[in-house]
Amino acid sequence: MRTHESLIDVKPFTVCLHFHGNLDFFLGLRTHCKNVERSLSEKTSIKDVIESCGVPHPEVDLIVVNGEAVDFDYGVVSDAQFDLYPPGIQYPQFRKQRLQVDTISRFVTDGHLGKLTRNLRLLGFDVAYDPQAGDRQLLAVMERENRALLTRDRRLLMHAVVKTGYCPRSQDPDEQTVEVIRRFDLIRLIAPFTRCLRCNAPLQEIAKADIIEKLEPLTKIYYEQFRRCTGCSQIYWAGSHFPKLQERLKQIRANFGG
Ligand SMILES: [Zn+2]
Repeated sequence: MRTHESLIDVKPFTVCLHFHGNLDFFLGLRTHCKNVERSLSEKTSIKDVIESCGVPHPEVDLIVVNGEAVDFDYGVVSDAQFDLYPPGIQYPQFRKQRLQVDTISRFVTDGHLGKLTRNLRLLGFDVAYDPQAGDRQLLAVMERENRALLTRDRRLLMHAVVKTGYCPRSQDPDEQTVEVIRRFDLIRLIAPFTRCLRCNAPLQEIAKADIIEKLEPLTKIYYEQFRRCTGCSQIYWAGSHFPKLQERLKQIRANFGG
């Protein structure tokens, strides 16, 4: 609560925020510009000012005021103009003051992102997913297993314990997949068909002789290479899963010129 003292300590002031790159996604359709003004009358952290505009802190990689980079705890006490940048924009002079990491390649996704989860697992990424998980469970898995949180729930992304996370802009799972690869710089880490789409455990190659009694007659004849999930024992082979998935992989890679 504000005390009488703090009210007389700080005169009302205005903060201008300029959101760069795709951060305007969070400003809403009514805002057709990337600038937001906030009137304040007490000392406020820049993190709280940013989130009051609807932009979750894990989406902001660099905060610049008066030519200096500052962190989320920076206290705003007078008129000021801030520039906010998302990850992925080049700014060599501030290389060391970035607020986000792009070295995480393990994720936890919320219950609405089942198709994105499947795509990421297809590419070999470790994605924890439980369609029944509540917010508390998602945050617990994120913290305990050092995963980045993927969710379109911006309130959840604003939770204080979230260090690394991302809100997919698109509602299309294939476009979301491209966004995540871009945000976390995953293109070189793609290892298709190494992870179970159902349970997220790694796959291992298995000799045909070891599973032959489980195969359908035609599969026995036409396929030689098999992989088995180390978690749920699901068997994968080229005929059942690869053609469609190869096509999807090709489309995803096409976005990166590869
Ligand atoms: Zn499995």
